Amino acid sequence: MASPGNPAPVTAIQAIRYARHERTAEANFNAPVDDHDLPMPLDYFVWAIHRHGEPPVIVDTGFHAEAAAARGREITRPIGKSLRDAGIDPLLVTDVILTHLHYDHAGGLGDFPNARFHVQDAELAFATSRHVCDQQVRAPFDGEPVAELVRRLYHDHVVFHDGDEEFAPGISLRLANGHTAGLQMVVCETARGDVVLASDAAHLYANITRQLPFPIYVDEEDYARAQARAMDLAGGSLDHLIPGHDPLVLSCFPTENDIARVDLPPHTPIAEML
Ligand SMILES: [Zn+2]
Ligand SMILES: [Zn+2]
Repeated sequence: MASPGNPAPVTAIQAIRYARHERTAEANFNAPVDDHDLPMPLDYFVWAIHRHGEPPVIVDTGFHAEAAAARGREITRPIGKSLRDAGIDPLLVTDVILTHLHYDHAGGLGDFPNARFHVQDAELAFATSRHVCDQQVRAPFDGEPVAELVRRLYHDHVVFHDGDEEFAPGISLRLANGHTAGLQMVVCETARGDVVLASDAAHLYANITRQLPFPIYVDEEDYARAQARAMDLAGGSLDHLIPGHDPLVLSCFPTENDIARVDLPPHTPIAEML
């Protein structure tokens, strides 16, 4: 925890919303829900972690127009413009953490030509394995971003991580497999305590509070453990856990230009909105 003599290493975390998908609640849970026909859209984010005197660490890369058209998603604000609005020059980004390799998290590697990409061993192994021959397993991946990551590997632009690791002062990687084989969360030490970028360990806060998984996972028991781990790392506080796709992030945290400051406390506690 930060104190006046020991300031928090992470000075800001931006949750940058770039796309949206209108859908109903039934699409977001692996079991029937009473509000199945009510709107429950998904937002799509990349995240930027800022520290004193360091280039921002980017978490995930989003997707572009081609993937949006193929999958019926709406780009609300192109990522290049969003990054500029966030004060970030992608050419100066040196490190990108990939929480996992689904199309909506790994589709923009080309925007960061000078970056090293940080991925879990298990994630890239899975995405290039025989499991991908199964159409249902393959569906949330796109081949081209995975191929691009392999090409970057051969140019020394990929850094592998094996389970929990300390990434940099104030930033740590925590394995949360279940949604995918090697999903990693990113825990940031901020002035208000640890903030967990949970990515798709929880698409929505409601996946946690209803204890119903989002219906994409490689192992349901691991998924449940990952979610419990995310809550544990967040100190049991929904306000300290940032899900991968929840529109409540923009509506509850201080937001400008579709960029929410999740290092700051929410102006409306998340629990009041559920
Ligand atoms: Zn995913
Ligand atoms: Zn996702």
